Amino acid sequence: MLKKVNFHTHTALCRHAEGMEADYVLAAKQAGLQTLGFSDHGPYPDNRFNVRMQYGELDGHLRRVRELQARFLMEMDILAGLEIEYCYDMDSYYESLFQQRHLDYLLLGQHGFYSSSGAFINSFDMPSDTTLLLDYAKTVCDGMRTGFFSILAHPDLPFLNDLVWDENCREACRRILYTAGETGVLLELNANGIRRGQKAYSDGLRYPYPYPLFWQEAARAGLPVLVGSDCHSPSLIWDGAMEEAFRLAGEWGLHLTDHLEHWYTPSR
Ligand SMILES: [Zn+2]
Ligand SMILES: [Zn+2]
Repeated sequence: MLKKVNFHTHTALCRHAEGMEADYVLAAKQAGLQTLGFSDHGPYPDNRFNVRMQYGELDGHLRRVRELQARFLMEMDILAGLEIEYCYDMDSYYESLFQQRHLDYLLLGQHGFYSSSGAFINSFDMPSDTTLLLDYAKTVCDGMRTGFFSILAHPDLPFLNDLVWDENCREACRRILYTAGETGVLLELNANGIRRGQKAYSDGLRYPYPYPLFWQEAARAGLPVLVGSDCHSPSLIWDGAMEEAFRLAGEWGLHLTDHLEHWYTPSR
């Protein structure tokens, strides 16, 4: 029997969500969660991406999470994490999040990446050229191999774009699955794509993500999978989209888990 857990939780600090830390804890308590992991969009010291908390807000956020952790110690496990991209120039920053700010985990959410020709690609707005999916896969695989990340959020996010499945797609998915297996980074089946509703794509009516072909391959590989709410409102912490995610996981024969396999240990 799986424990009720969620490691993918946002707050109003990201400027596209509602509810502060305490509101999510109360919602988690009502939903009967045993573990609540905060993973709001992580800021960078140079505030390079917008629509997220500012770097100057990070310590206040972590302090509030730690206070709630202490207050609800007997009722649930509250963890302090962040959802963040893998940027090749930021290894020392990720390291410092563990060493100096004592973060519990990082969730890799590759919302943008650089193509092999050096162009910045928004994962939510990708051209139909599927070679870009290989660049996406390279970035997330390199990220997983650093050891900083415990979970790969919505690995299949690029399929929110109308990509036509081909050999590049197959190869990119294979590399992601292989690297997840090799590193112990958990794949996240993300409920937020379900909240976007089914849409007409070239390959038929489907959710933007989760993308069936990716998950059927993950099931065949026997990789452990974590269902993530990716809630941007306390009312969505355990909603119909979560129930649908579990239903799909059953349909695809996924091996679900309720705990992290890999935790980063700072070097000193
Ligand atoms: Zn968000
Ligand atoms: Zn998220």
